[in-house]
Amino acid sequence: MVVFNNYYLTAACIALIEITMNAPAPMIRLTTQRHIILEELSKVKTHPTASELYDMVRKRLPRIGLGTVYRNLELMADSGMILKIEVGGTQKRFDATTEAHYHIRCSACGKVDDIDIPVINELVAQAADTTSYLILGHHVEFTGICSICQKQQQQTLDQ
Ligand SMILES: [Zn+2]
Ligand SMILES: [Zn+2]
Repeated sequence: MVVFNNYYLTAACIALIEITMNAPAPMIRLTTQRHIILEELSKVKTHPTASELYDMVRKRLPRIGLGTVYRNLELMADSGMILKIEVGGTQKRFDATTEAHYHIRCSACGKVDDIDIPVINELVAQAADTTSYLILGHHVEFTGICSICQKQQQQTLDQ
């Protein structure tokens, strides 16, 4: 089973994949645990890591283990229920917003925010003109310094 969750697909590509793969994403049951994980993830815009989510979920399910939260997150991401963000060997982060959108990551503290600009589908068409690959999508992540880290860096300079 190939998972395309980390890619942003154009409608044409999705149609092609459906034709060529004929393998719908596996449906998974929305168990109580998964329901609570999804609820907690939906409450935040911070794109938490598995251990951050574990701390949130544990308040409602005191007996749940980190391994269980982690396994459920992977399954939920594989089934398209949530989005898994992993770039450049950094810690995996999770997102309840599954529509295509771009992210920005702070180079100093690693926090991830959404960037609210339209997804550029022309990039896929332009890339397709230059390669024999069947393009499945594209992934853009901006890097920068968040406002908190900018202030901290300024304070260090001021001292
Ligand atoms: Zn930062
Ligand atoms: Zn996001």
